[in-house]
Amino acid sequence: NRKVVLRGYIERAPREDDMELVDGGAMELRVPEGAGGPAVLVKNLYLSCDPYMRGRMRDFHGSYIPPFKPGSPIEGFGVGRVVDSTHPGFSAGDIVSGMTGWEDYSLITKPEQLRKIQQSDIPLSYHLGLLGMPGFTAYVGFYEICSPKKGEFVFVSAASGAVGQIVGQLAKLHGCYVVGSAGTNQKVELLKEKFGFDAAFNYKEEPDLTAALKRYFPEGIDIYFENVGGPMLDAVLLNMRTHGRIAVCGMVSQHGVTASTGIHNLFSLISKRIEMKGFIQSDYVHLFPQFVDDITKHYRDGKIVYVEDVSVGLESGLAAFVGLFSGKNIGKQVVCVSQD
Ligand code: NDP
Repeated sequence: NRKVVLRGYIERAPREDDMELVDGGAMELRVPEGAGGPAVLVKNLYLSCDPYMRGRMRDFHGSYIPPFKPGSPIEGFGVGRVVDSTHPGFSAGDIVSGMTGWEDYSLITKPEQLRKIQQSDIPLSYHLGLLGMPGFTAYVGFYEICSPKKGEFVFVSAASGAVGQIVGQLAKLHGCYVVGSAGTNQKVELLKEKFGFDAAFNYKEEPDLTAALKRYFPEGIDIYFENVGGPMLDAVLLNMRTHGRIAVCGMVSQHGVTASTGIHNLFSLISKRIEMKGFIQSDYVHLFPQFVDDITKHYRDGKIVYVEDVSVGLESGLAAFVGLFSGKNIGKQVVCVSQD
């Protein structure tokens, strides 16, 4: 059973050598007697790379989620096949999603957190993206936090990523005008050609973000779906309309930033009566069934598409995860550990 373990805590951006692929040796493919209660042994098929996992590599206990344990496999969302179960709710062959380890096989000692997946026309890996935590984040953030109205002007940063691509498509379905930013010209093309954004730009090629946003939103922004923070947020504040809303989903540019880059334009919150609200998707778990129904329908009706970046093999996961922080991923980053 191969595992990807964290070597030790870090404060800076993760590097591949902060993790290690170790061989845990042969294992019996059954739930061990001493599992301490009903448990499920899962063969991992797909693992999800998510930016929040970086926070778990720090020796910091004040967050909503505890840090990883050095020497133990890192954890994340995964999709797997049940190999053995002593829990009445699961049997061998079931496909499940939930928190799992970065390893070939994981013993899940809290099976109640697993969700059974019915195999269908929807690719299994989509349960880590479109129909998983990132998709749910987009859904909750857009409908619950942004209070969108038809015809409004919406801006999404990190727009081609796991969350952003869905926010943009939901906003289009809602009748909004949508612009996205991303870090390469290839991603910008994807936003316009594949996801149907009205316009998109490469923020790395814009010397003046405030001027760029003014160009794309001559009448101002009603809704900003914030994924990056830093200078982009400052530029957005100057371009917001009166009574605009900012849904603070993430600030991927600010992880590990110790000397604050400083936000200068917060006064706009007052003068423009802007609502700015942070949220964590897990607080809205009661909406999950509705989300699955809505998004599945949109997908089957051809109204939503999803782009993934699949890296193959557990050993490829280290580079795939690290790549999130330099924008290497094109779409939702997943790792395919096994196809059966
Ligand atoms: P993505 O798939 O978008 O991957 C991360 C992307 O962020 C990269 O591809 C890169 O895209 C961009 N990025 C990386 N570093 C920087 C930087 N320094 N400055 C600007 N952009 C950068 O990730 P997700 O869609 O999974 O996550 C998007 C955001 O949503 C993150 O901030 C994440 O933490 C947050 N999130 C919040 C949740 C919540 O409940 N609040 C739940 C899930 C995610 P590019 O090439 O375009 O720069």
